[in-house]
Amino acid sequence: MSAISDMYRDMGIRPSVLNLGKQMEDRLSLRFKEIDETAEYNQMKVVYAMQKNRVSEACFHYASGYGYDDLGRDTLEKVYADVFHTESALVRPQITCGTHALALALSANLRPGDELLSVAGKPYDTLEEVIGIRPSKGSLAEYGIAYSQVDLLEDGSFDFETIEKAVTEKTKLVTIQRSKGYQTRPSFSVAQIGEAIAFVKKLKPDVICMVDNCYGEFVETIEPSDVGADMVVGSLIKNPGGGLAPIGGYIAGREDLIENCGYRLTSPGLGREVGASLGVMQAFYQGLFLAPTVTASALKGAVFAANIYEHLGYPVVPNSTESRHDIIQAVELGTPEGVIAFCRGIQAAAPVDSYVTPEPWAMPGYDSDVIMAAGAFVQGSSIELSADGPIKPPYAVYFQGGLTWPHAKLGILMSLEYMARNGIVTL
Ligand SMILES: *Cc1c(COP(=O)(O)O)cnc(C)c1O
Repeated sequence: MSAISDMYRDMGIRPSVLNLGKQMEDRLSLRFKEIDETAEYNQMKVVYAMQKNRVSEACFHYASGYGYDDLGRDTLEKVYADVFHTESALVRPQITCGTHALALALSANLRPGDELLSVAGKPYDTLEEVIGIRPSKGSLAEYGIAYSQVDLLEDGSFDFETIEKAVTEKTKLVTIQRSKGYQTRPSFSVAQIGEAIAFVKKLKPDVICMVDNCYGEFVETIEPSDVGADMVVGSLIKNPGGGLAPIGGYIAGREDLIENCGYRLTSPGLGREVGASLGVMQAFYQGLFLAPTVTASALKGAVFAANIYEHLGYPVVPNSTESRHDIIQAVELGTPEGVIAFCRGIQAAAPVDSYVTPEPWAMPGYDSDVIMAAGAFVQGSSIELSADGPIKPPYAVYFQGGLTWPHAKLGILMSLEYMARNGIVTL
């Protein structure tokens, strides 16, 4: 034990920070056990899908050029379809990020004159430009696709009364964002998403229900596709890439919808037949294999952070005892200085680029300055220990990731150390 304390001291963590961490961790053994049980279930779900699809060493071979009959790619897509219990999946390094995967799923399945409806309020910031809520070149709005939105109720739940009025003849696709993103609303459980989908489908059975699943994968034992979602969409540099995928996105869902995504991603006529996997397949498979336990590590970090910062009097979403539906922890620090100190602490705990000092900047796709802490092996990967905060009220920081629990813990202790060093908290 004293060897560990010495190590923390060498890392720059003061004893009062370490003691508070220990006190909080001691209270969390039951929560951690639940998280481990979910990981155990999901680990088997992934292995089962790999065995069923006869994943072999040949799946890791390098494929270049057009990529016809790329065994690794085609098999991985079957594995993803089985993990999400869907008819089909598109999982590609050519899908560059989560925003791209979502833009692809939308643009592939909407046509001029159709309407897209968000029943979960304002979508993730980068989606505003995809949809054209903020005018943008190439947006869905430019292609004559209308958008409407039903805001969540005060308590963060679905506004079923207004949804009933908003679903019309023109509504072609309904989108639901599982995770809070840069908001302080609660994230949805898969069960809640299932209720919203059932409600919408009762009003209009042929409407396509899409879920932005970013940050939600493997947090529960079921996914939105288990409760009626026609498409689930996410990024491989978040949960399902397990920290190893160097790029990529996935869309899992109904065969006809995924087929459309294939034609939109490459070209009409070519579809999913082309798109070489360029040597990333081993990382995709191995990352998916690790994803359940990596997600569990990140979840433990989120629960730990909630307990520490709530104890210190900061509003936290989710709070210290709530059940978890994604890996994001929001902490309302109330001042720009708090957000900056927190993020600098996270950066200082990183294995990569720990010596750099993050500064707020005008990131493309966001409507205010954002500070980001990311000392990651994969640039921008937010399944790795990371934090970001838009510099605007309520000055909340969004903390996520941690490929291992000890590293997530170090990050949170270091954030607190930086808060203490800057006189923002007194310990
Ligand atoms: C991260 C995220 C996205 C966008 O993914 P990028 O990979 O950053 O483009 C979309 N929606 C939600 C909820 C996210 O968390």
